Amino acid sequence: MGIVCGHSIWHRLISLLYLVQFALAYQQLSEETLQNLPRPGNDFDIRNGKLLAPILRTRIPGTPGSTAVLNHFNDFFKTTLPDWTIDFQNSTSKTPVSGNKEVPFVNFIASRDPPWASKGDVGRLTLVAHYDSKYTPEGFIGAIDSAAPCAMIMHAVRSIDAALTRKWKDMEAQGDALDAGLDAYTGIQVLFLDGEEAFQTWTNSDSLYGARSLAETWGETSHSPMAIFRTPLSSISLFMLLDLLGSKNPLIQSYFPTTHWAYQSLADLEGRLRKLKQFKSSPNYDSETGQTVDEPQWLADAEKGEHLIKAWTTIQDDHIPFLRRGVDILHIIDTPDRTGFPPVWHTLNDDGEHLDLPTVEDWSILVTAFAAEWMELEGYFDGDAQDTPEKMYTRKTEL
Ligand SMILES: [Zn+2]
Repeated sequence: MGIVCGHSIWHRLISLLYLVQFALAYQQLSEETLQNLPRPGNDFDIRNGKLLAPILRTRIPGTPGSTAVLNHFNDFFKTTLPDWTIDFQNSTSKTPVSGNKEVPFVNFIASRDPPWASKGDVGRLTLVAHYDSKYTPEGFIGAIDSAAPCAMIMHAVRSIDAALTRKWKDMEAQGDALDAGLDAYTGIQVLFLDGEEAFQTWTNSDSLYGARSLAETWGETSHSPMAIFRTPLSSISLFMLLDLLGSKNPLIQSYFPTTHWAYQSLADLEGRLRKLKQFKSSPNYDSETGQTVDEPQWLADAEKGEHLIKAWTTIQDDHIPFLRRGVDILHIIDTPDRTGFPPVWHTLNDDGEHLDLPTVEDWSILVTAFAAEWMELEGYFDGDAQDTPEKMYTRKTEL
């Protein structure tokens, strides 16, 4: 018992060393993998698409529309991603329009960890969007804000799930899970947050209801004393927030020097996917000629050095309560002219009909690729998963 115990402490120390040394571990996908990433097919159809259509309805906190969308998320994970753990985090609050009535807010949380790792030892890539819709104007749908981002995230996690299973099985079979350092303790989670929108006018108390409650709760919940991460909040290795996405020609700025490297990784993927003619919204998509038309990158700040990136806190969004508690944020939000939001923002025009579906699909592919690189899934996608001895050997030395 003493020896076993000592052994596991030794491994824990090794893991911690890996965490310090390789905290930015991130493995590029091959061109072949990028060209064969799963496509959403009809699932983003705004009328009957499996992923997006059920979210394109009013979903004001505490209303039947909100419950229906929560059920949609729950059904999706239960049936399509049964290895994921589902949680709901509940809170209530009065709002400027509810008088003395408490409005319920429900955050939806789904996560998947390596099967051998205990909860407090896993750092998670965290994909986030809000699912509530705005109280006014009446009938507001919020397609870019943020029904489409929710659907993009659903497609991304669905697309990497089988590769994740293969990779973890492989690591278990080789018995080297514990020796793989950080990679063996990397998980992924999805947060669909409630109550992002203000009911009346945006203030610190009338906005971010779900995010404020979750950040506070997670900051105060302690893992076991032996855990690598002290709280669920510190288990967030990157809080990647998608908002206001789905309009054509977005422009995404880099807001935080501490995560500019992740922004650059995402931008690099965008450039590679464009070069491979995988972007449906691009003029070069599927073009038969060898020539390519110049096209601007969505992630326009990639060439800037980290020292030129100023931490912005002027855009209020679900990341704020997490940012204040020291969480690393990658904020992916469209500011077409670098100051304002897309023209449909907070108007009745922000509906399914005004989405640019090729752009929505491109985003879903880009997020898929980013998550796959973060989880180091090269070699584990369909088609390249046949285990030849050579492949096994390559993988082992890569670890
Ligand atoms: Zn909004």
